[in-house]
Amino acid sequence: MTTYKLITHYHDVLIVGGGGAGLRAAAAACERDPDITVACVSKVPVTRSHTVAAQGGINAALGNRIPDDWRWHMYDTIRGSDWLGDQDAIAFMCEKAPEAIAELEHMGMPFTRDDSGQIYQRAYGGQSSDYGKGGTAYRACAVADRTGHSLLHTLYTHSMRHDVEFFIEYMALDLIFDDENICRGMLAWELETGELHCFRAHQTIIATGGFGQAYASTTASSICTGDGNAMILRAGLPLQDMEFIQFHPTGLYNSGILITEGARGEGAFLLNGDGERFMSTYAPSSMELASRDVISRSMIQEIMAGRGCGPKKDHLYLSLAHLSRDVIDSKLPSIKDIAQTFAQVDIYTQPIPVVPTVHYTMGGIPTNMQSQVVTIDSKGSERIIEGLLAIGEASCTSVHGANRLGCNGLLELIVFGKAAGEFAADSIVHGASHKVISSELLEPLITRFDDLRTARGNMRPNKIRKSLQNVMQANASIFRTNDLLFNGQKELRTLWGMMQHELHVADTSLIWNNDLIEALETDNLLRQASSAMTSAYERCESRGAHWRQDFPTRDDAGCLAHSVCFVDDHGNTRFTIRPVRLHAEDMLTRTPISFPPEERAY
Ligand SMILES: Cc1cc2nc3c(=O)[nH]c(=O)nc-3n(C[C@H](O)[C@H](O)[C@H](O)COP(=O)(O)OP(=O)(O)OC[C@H]3O[C@@H](n4cnc5c(N)ncnc54)[C@H](O)[C@@H]3O)c2cc1C
Repeated sequence: MTTYKLITHYHDVLIVGGGGAGLRAAAAACERDPDITVACVSKVPVTRSHTVAAQGGINAALGNRIPDDWRWHMYDTIRGSDWLGDQDAIAFMCEKAPEAIAELEHMGMPFTRDDSGQIYQRAYGGQSSDYGKGGTAYRACAVADRTGHSLLHTLYTHSMRHDVEFFIEYMALDLIFDDENICRGMLAWELETGELHCFRAHQTIIATGGFGQAYASTTASSICTGDGNAMILRAGLPLQDMEFIQFHPTGLYNSGILITEGARGEGAFLLNGDGERFMSTYAPSSMELASRDVISRSMIQEIMAGRGCGPKKDHLYLSLAHLSRDVIDSKLPSIKDIAQTFAQVDIYTQPIPVVPTVHYTMGGIPTNMQSQVVTIDSKGSERIIEGLLAIGEASCTSVHGANRLGCNGLLELIVFGKAAGEFAADSIVHGASHKVISSELLEPLITRFDDLRTARGNMRPNKIRKSLQNVMQANASIFRTNDLLFNGQKELRTLWGMMQHELHVADTSLIWNNDLIEALETDNLLRQASSAMTSAYERCESRGAHWRQDFPTRDDAGCLAHSVCFVDDHGNTRFTIRPVRLHAEDMLTRTPISFPPEERAY
């Protein structure tokens, strides 16, 4: 094996990932305790994290347009989650939302304003007033249709006011644990120099984002490979609710680029090949503002019934032509450009061809309310992993349950990012030394890296990655069956074999080695795909984004539980469950508040 030079860094708090969640945590940790040291590691320049691509907005019950209440937001989020979300975490997020928006505003985020100068709020899917009885709510705060871009740059600028030490273009490889299973930091590869770095920390926060790249058609950037999730699996820890993959109804036909739900929030509607607003059949009261899982399934049903659009009848139309030019120009300028550039569509007069496209991964690293990573031991008991937290799309806290509502993703980043940063800072004992880690503990991590780097089979990593994406797209899509999922597991086992025996990394260097990056990411995706496929196979009911044609109803008696799945280094999976927390309380008044499962209709 090559001998690698290892450079060691010592910090109190280490944040892996510089998207919205990571940057919010970094600033919060520094603000909570200016005397601690904080590092943030990212495989791309932080302002290129996927958060930059978010378009539509960020939810908070501000009530700027019509009266609103965080409890209504909480109810909508629970209904959207199909009762799989943990209600204490959801209550915390919704109650904190107005304050979190005010903080962003004070950091300088240039929110779109209404005529009276207040933050403008648009309608979004699944959002209602008065616990579903009072019609549409207006809850999404936005910066035109470039909210994520604005959020990420605001947070980055804000973090520059503090002493966060950034390590940019460092690829995190694996977490470092001591012999008591306490997390002591992370091993990373510096892409520019080829050196390996050992980041030591008292608290490590994973904020590495989702794994949308496990699918062939996705709105997620090519960097969204869930690297932190895979590090968890390699550490012998489980992932949770991995079968819940969100398909966004309006990905641009052919390219999968996102057309924000904000377009429907501003009044755009969906049409089938017969020119009908088909959502009246599936969600008569919410129509195009039903939740995403419901609309995506309806669209596929229209296509399967032969009512799709275009010569192949394989997509649908999103029409904005009835909206005023003023609304399009001021609220949806990027959508106008995207449609023109990538589909040659003039949205003032023509409809946009769209299909459901993978967009968000609800599953991830199981945590408790404090964002501390947890595992389930062999007796079924929950155990906290000391020194390790997870936030953002990488985590499964779980505020989205079986289906995330639009604009709750960015909210989760800033609410739990801040809370986790503060929690980590509070747990630091000033001057505490870092436990010595023996070289035997690091050796297996370096060996894995070296094995991938020196793999000389006949299959390039991008070929395996493409096959993996096709397996997931074909077998774990919007509609699932026992046979498809069984076949999917079989095909993934073949890919495990390829990864272990046929992988070929052509570039032998250590500097800017894209082939090796691709190999590392493909390995990460494969582990997560296995956990998603197994969890989908095991969940014999339909809930939220997980629709089983052979089990078309929700089964609260048998299945109201989080899926928990371990994947070993040979692709073997082990499945168990974890209870859903169905009770919460109002933080201010300490009064109990919870919403028992009910039928979900839009
Ligand atoms: C196109 C699009 C539009 C969206 N629009 C909205 C919206 O309008 N409203 C909403 O609420 N949600 C939206 N979402 C969802 C939301 O944007 C994401 O869930 C959220 O931005 C994820 O943020 P994050 O901080 O968890 O991760 P990311 O922003 O994905 O950042 C991950 C970070 O981890 C780093 N990283 C990853 N792996 C490694 C590694 N191995 N080593 C080192 N660093 C690593 C990356 O460099 C990056 O800095 C949208 C998502 C997409 C894809």
